[in-house]
Amino acid sequence: MSARKRNHPAESHDGLSLTSALHDCLACGVLVVNQRGQITSCAPAVLRLLRLPRRPAANAPLSQLPAPLQKIIRQVAATHAPVTERTVTLSGDGNDSVTLHVTAVPVQAGPNSCDVVVVLNDISAVQQLEQSMSRLDRLASIGTVSASMGHEIKNALVAVKTFTDLLLDNNPDAELAGVVRREMRRIDTIVSQMLKFAGPARPTLSAVRLHDILDHSLRLVQPQIEGKLISLNRSFKAAPDAIEGDDYQLEQAFVNLFLNAIDAMGPNGSLTVATEIIPASPAKAASPVGGVLPQVRVTVADTGIGVAPENIHHLFEPFFTTKNHGTGLGLPITRRIFQEHHGDISVKSEVNKGTTFNILLPASAPAC
Ligand code: ADP
Ligand code: MG
Repeated sequence: MSARKRNHPAESHDGLSLTSALHDCLACGVLVVNQRGQITSCAPAVLRLLRLPRRPAANAPLSQLPAPLQKIIRQVAATHAPVTERTVTLSGDGNDSVTLHVTAVPVQAGPNSCDVVVVLNDISAVQQLEQSMSRLDRLASIGTVSASMGHEIKNALVAVKTFTDLLLDNNPDAELAGVVRREMRRIDTIVSQMLKFAGPARPTLSAVRLHDILDHSLRLVQPQIEGKLISLNRSFKAAPDAIEGDDYQLEQAFVNLFLNAIDAMGPNGSLTVATEIIPASPAKAASPVGGVLPQVRVTVADTGIGVAPENIHHLFEPFFTTKNHGTGLGLPITRRIFQEHHGDISVKSEVNKGTTFNILLPASAPAC
């Protein structure tokens, strides 16, 4: 038997070698204290759980244990009544604290003597998990509260807008009118986008033509394209272009991408909108988007200012914006829409060269 075994007080009895073996493999800590208040057995886990610098020597006094534990052991020795799952928090150095469930049971050791067997269980991890769960719960309620607040703000805005419009119509101060209307529109946009992001709105999927949706989205941004003398390079090659989608939501997503591209370009920039079919590939069956089914790829590319490398990972984060009057909600909403269509979006960019967004969506009919 090992030296470690000889040092252990429990090893002096042959019958206790099983106890010792159990001690060594138990994750919980077990220790035994005799009637004279001496520690007669102490599993290795006890050292870790009680933050003890070293194993108590054979028959070490009870006072070597932390005070809350001594109190429980004395109580059990005096009353001969067990204490079950008492929660004890022990603080170590700095922030290193441990929360234990302590169970102490009196065990008859002889005609007139009674040992106390103590079992220690570390519940710190369970406690941390419970705390994270309740934090998640609170976050979910904040989401619900902000969604309902958003609705209330929007309702109030309608009334405020109607009355300020009336007031401003009678007041010839055009500059003031401009400021008020612009700021009102801004609040309205932020709240609408927040609602879209927080709200549960799932897309209503039906058979739609991707090219119709893209053309309609392009028509919506036509004034901005013309206003900046941007040339449009339209290359629709996906055949067929049938997908399962929510045309309103997809239009919103594409308009977000087009407006960002237009914002990023000066006059004479070039906006490319292209589609193509990616044939089914069994080799890609493990990919999160399709793989065994054909997909449609939509490319939205611009020749604008590009995205700085340190920003590229933040583009889809809510409220990330580099614009003075941006909301930073366009891209997170856009990504969410594509993901809810079982698709995905990725981005590549080079500063001062341009930015390309690639969108993959499942094609609903086999490609010809
Ligand atoms: P917003 O347009 O309100 O700023 P978005 O979520 O739509 O919010 O975009 C977030 C940020 O991503 C933008 O502020 C911009 O910095 C960057 N971005 C998005 N699209 C492009 C693009 N085509 N070219 C360059 N930067 C872009
Ligand atoms: Mg935007």
